[in-house]
Amino acid sequence: MEIKKISSKLKCEISGCKNLADYSISTSDNSKYNLNICEHCLREINKLSSKMFTPKSIKNVYQKGGFSGENK
Ligand SMILES: [Zn+2]
Repeated sequence: MEIKKISSKLKCEISGCKNLADYSISTSDNSKYNLNICEHCLREINKLSSKMFTPKSIKNVYQKGGFSGENK
C-alpha cells in the first residue's frame, strides 16, 4: 500500500466530504483502485486509527477488564 501526494482536481472520496483530494492511497499498481482523500480526512483517520491500534490503548482496555470483543 502506498500514499502519494497528488495535485489533480479530484474530489475526496470519503463520504460526506466535499474537499478536493490531496493524497491518493493505492493498494495496487492500477490507479483505478486508488482512494483519493483530502489532508483533513487523512489526518482524522490517522488520529482515530492510532487511538485504536497503539499498544497503550490496548493495554488500557485490558486493564479495565473491558475487552470482551463487543466493544466496537
Ligand atoms: Zn476529505
